[in-house]
Amino acid sequence: MSTPSTDPECLFCRIVAGEIPAEIVHEGERTVAFRDIAPQAPTHVLVVPRAHTPNAPATAEDDAAAFAEIALTARTVARAEGHEDFRIVFNCGAGVGQTVFHTHAHVLAGRPMGWPPG
Ligand code: 5GP
Ligand code: ZN
Repeated sequence: MSTPSTDPECLFCRIVAGEIPAEIVHEGERTVAFRDIAPQAPTHVLVVPRAHTPNAPATAEDDAAAFAEIALTARTVARAEGHEDFRIVFNCGAGVGQTVFHTHAHVLAGRPMGWPPG
């Protein structure tokens, strides 16, 4: 496999590269999972592809295996913290709250959650 693409200006590329510290909870072939710096639930982990892509559909287009690994890693990290039930959120675009433009799944668990989301 070729070296994944990275963006030296991107916060999550820098976390994947180990240049910025984060509490990493899982590392896979194509993904890295680390705790969100501002947790919104008892478990709030971000699962990111190692390769820089701007949002979830772009990752699915570029590397379907990485997209699948994100979903499987979400279950792995939730279970590791004692949660069978969890929520995965992909914010796709600034208009719905995306602030970091490197694909990331929010994995949230450990408290009741309302629907629809805010
Ligand atoms: P978005 O709003 O793009 O869907 O989510 C970005 C997430 O990244 C936010 O939940 C925010 O708290 C988290 N975040 C921003 N900066 C950092 C950081 O430096 N380290 C970690 N671990 N999380 C961060
Ligand atoms: Zn990136």
